[in-house]
Amino acid sequence: MQTEFILLAAKAVNAAILDNEAEIESLDREIGDGDHFINIKRGCATILGMHDELASASPEVVLQKIGMKLLSTIGGASGPLIGSFFIAMAKSVREQGGESLPQIAAAFAAGVEAIKSRGKADVGEKTMLDVLIPVSNTFSRLAAEGVAREDIFTVIKREAEQGVLATRDLIATKGRAAFLGERTIGHIDPGAKTSQVIIRTICDLATTGNDV
Ligand code: ADP
Ligand code: MG
Repeated sequence: MQTEFILLAAKAVNAAILDNEAEIESLDREIGDGDHFINIKRGCATILGMHDELASASPEVVLQKIGMKLLSTIGGASGPLIGSFFIAMAKSVREQGGESLPQIAAAFAAGVEAIKSRGKADVGEKTMLDVLIPVSNTFSRLAAEGVAREDIFTVIKREAEQGVLATRDLIATKGRAAFLGERTIGHIDPGAKTSQVIIRTICDLATTGNDV
């Protein structure tokens, strides 16, 4: 993992989130409280605004700084969740390295684990974790098997799409959507959708010749 790639990813993710505004907004109007897009947009803008401060820092410092900043700038439930994702990734990179794909997969897994414990949620609860957990498991497995990078990212993108679609049939048991109970059936979770958009964007960036 390289600082340059993280900064490139921040730019691409910001653009992708803005491109998907209408869909994310409408999903969150259906089963959320309508602030998810604003929260994510604010998070992206915050990271872009840190560009100069981050450009000369090492990847683990970049991840740590982003996490700390997001904790205090993104509101709602998703701020602490996403903030702790970055902080846990930073710790993993610091302790186990972040150069090889298995190391990057381990860092991603540590980030997802932090969301799980902070949000006290798991797969099947109609949250972003329905995308993040299967993606993380597959990423770790394929990286350990030494599968080619392009192939890993293709499979991960598909996994993320399946995860987001699977949230349609689930009953929300975490977050604000949980108040709607069975009425959430038939609706895709907005946090799962933004996670999928972010994963797709980063995978595309990583397969177009950029050094991860
Ligand atoms: P808030 O829930 O505070 O309004 P957002 O609207 O930004 O925050 O984010 C909502 C998204 O956060 C949901 O769509 C869901 O994916 C995710 N989410 C909510 N609660 C949890 C939780 N406990 N664990 C993991 N993800 C959660
Ligand atoms: Mg909300």
